[in-house]
Amino acid sequence: MSRVALIGNPNTGKTTLFNALTGLSQRVGNYPGVTVEHKTGSLALPNGVPVELVDLPGTYSLSAASPDEAIAVDVLFDDNETSRIDGVVAILDASNLRRNLYLVSQLLEAKRPLVIALNMMDVTVTRGIRIDAIRLSSRLGVPVIPISAQRRQGIDDLRVALADTLASSGRGISTVSLPESLRQQVSELIQQTASEGHRPLTAPEALRALVDEDGIAEQRLIADRGPEMAGALQHLRAAVGVSKPLSAVESESRYAWIQQIMDGCVEHEEELRSSRSDQVDRVLTHRLAGLLAFVAVSSLVFQGIYTWSAPLMDIIEGGFASLGSMVSHLMPEGALRSMVVDGVISGVGGVVIFLPQIALLFLMISIMEDCGYMARAALLMDRLLGKLGLSGRSFIPLLSSFACAVPGVMAARTIADRRDRFVTILVAPLMSCSARLPVYVLFIGAFIPDRTVLGGWVGLQGLTLLAMYSVGAVVAVPVALFLRLTILRGKSSPFLLELPAYNWPTPRTVLLRVYESCRAFVVRAGSVILTATIVMWALAYYPRSADIGAQYDEARNNLPAVSAEGRMSGEQRDRALKQLRRAKAAAYLEASLLGQAGHFVQPVFEPLGWDWRIGMATLASFPAREIVISALGTIYSLGGDQDETSGDMHLGLKNATHANGAPVFTIPVALSVMVFFALCAQCMSTLAVIQRETRSWGWAAFSFTYMTVLAYAGAWGVYRMGMWLGW
Ligand code: GDP
Ligand code: MG
Repeated sequence: MSRVALIGNPNTGKTTLFNALTGLSQRVGNYPGVTVEHKTGSLALPNGVPVELVDLPGTYSLSAASPDEAIAVDVLFDDNETSRIDGVVAILDASNLRRNLYLVSQLLEAKRPLVIALNMMDVTVTRGIRIDAIRLSSRLGVPVIPISAQRRQGIDDLRVALADTLASSGRGISTVSLPESLRQQVSELIQQTASEGHRPLTAPEALRALVDEDGIAEQRLIADRGPEMAGALQHLRAAVGVSKPLSAVESESRYAWIQQIMDGCVEHEEELRSSRSDQVDRVLTHRLAGLLAFVAVSSLVFQGIYTWSAPLMDIIEGGFASLGSMVSHLMPEGALRSMVVDGVISGVGGVVIFLPQIALLFLMISIMEDCGYMARAALLMDRLLGKLGLSGRSFIPLLSSFACAVPGVMAARTIADRRDRFVTILVAPLMSCSARLPVYVLFIGAFIPDRTVLGGWVGLQGLTLLAMYSVGAVVAVPVALFLRLTILRGKSSPFLLELPAYNWPTPRTVLLRVYESCRAFVVRAGSVILTATIVMWALAYYPRSADIGAQYDEARNNLPAVSAEGRMSGEQRDRALKQLRRAKAAAYLEASLLGQAGHFVQPVFEPLGWDWRIGMATLASFPAREIVISALGTIYSLGGDQDETSGDMHLGLKNATHANGAPVFTIPVALSVMVFFALCAQCMSTLAVIQRETRSWGWAAFSFTYMTVLAYAGAWGVYRMGMWLGW
């Protein structure tokens, strides 16, 4: 089996090509020895040779400043007999050839059999770019195959070329000529480091160590050969004798080479013809119009989440409610029935009900991503972030964090600068992830009136949801600025983003993404949430004091019987019984472990307008935010506020009262709960991934602390403001 690596700049269609080549044979794994995820898949070449295709992280160059790029370098230059790769497929965006050839110039130096896939040929046609692939191929000395990964054109040619290249192990001819003085110091470094017991450095490795100051190659050299290497490198760098940075010297040589290669191979038809895509972009990336469009699109998305999911949610809600009452009737009264009905069904059902909304959110996000709009939004945001001294590179990790902070924090690996990366990791959990959605939806549905504002155009509920989604992002700006000015001081690096051409979204890609996120959500509901729910239930159920039972049994026995004289009618008696049942349930809950703990911490939450049950549910949801929903469901159904059979959480929350009969939840309280959950760090997975990525529990603890403080302050502020405005 031959091993072939797939490499290319970000957004060149790598994933699309990988899918086209390997189909369903994909597996996700880790690179040996490091926990960086990658995909592998198998394909058969036309000559029958089986190939294992390895997906490398998208990268602009092999300068390996970020951990992601280091992986690409390791795989490409690995010379170990057993793990060495047999060939490389480089995917290039044909409409951005100049920039893409930079990576090719470095790949040729890896001296591995190489095939170039010239992707996005359809775009070059519409943009009037003509590329002579045959001439390009003869200049580079490697096959250059025009393809369109998305339309699945040229894929077979690519397979044939790969088979030929692997069989003949052709490895390219053209190489960049670096200035003599630089080359001398590269050989000097190779000689200096040649010693017993060490593999000699290859020329590309030595070049990287010399040129990339503080880069991964230098760090490794120092780790390998001792701290005196730092001084030696400085000495060699000075010996090159140029006034500019060596990285500039290198890239000038490479771009000169690229110019030679492209000369006569690439023609631009009159560039004046502004394509339709450019015209659209003039609006969508415009400083003001673009921002307005972005706000309009997001409002539409959030309004849609509400309107379109309602029927499905009703069905799921009805399903869980009838399941609950069915089980109630089938099982004898007691702890087990309570656990199943009040714990599992009420708790897990309360979370699962949000599945339609999660699906809709991801449907819309992946449509926006796949059609190319997200890249425009990224550009827009980059300009905003740039003004605030933040890196635009953070945008993609932050955007992913709107789905879930875990992949978002991991995506920060693509950020080379350590400080940029840490700031991004620290603010990523502030973005409103999908676990917050259920919290917002529940409280908005129960407490924000369903009416329109601004002349009937905007729904108040959708507007509130949008506001909740923005809170974290808005707060992230001052937080990032503050971190930048204090513990993570430094200037941020520039950001380069290519705008992909607009596309019709591919249903496959979109649906796959929706499916994956729904699956992840259901798995979570079935594992973490289920466990937490049962623990919560037990804490809210035990201890079961016999006194309370006896006291209420007695009260029930003392109720006068229904009698003809009219001392108590049947209806009156029913009402009295129901009231007794509720009072008994509430008394049990208050005496439970959770109830005692709730009363204990109540003073902490009092300034936020919360009663002890909300405070308790919040504490219980430390492992994951959604737990607060199931916790509230369990607490209020055990507490008897929720009608046993309806299973309707909205009613349960609305009916909840303080001891004096005043409602627990008012609009300011609901807003304060939502803001708290918008800003808090109640997610164990996120804290764990922060620890893994920063290699320190310190940063995880820092995240938790600062977010909790923010959440508390925010909740307090919005509660006070709401009370003051008399909402
Ligand atoms: P990656 O970041 O390199 O993995 O790139 P993706 O595979 O995610 O593709 C980036 C974008 O380019 C997606 O919107 C694809 O649908 C689109 N794309 C991929 N291949 C082609 C192509 O051949 N033509 C066009 N027009 N778009 C493509
Ligand atoms: Mg990709």
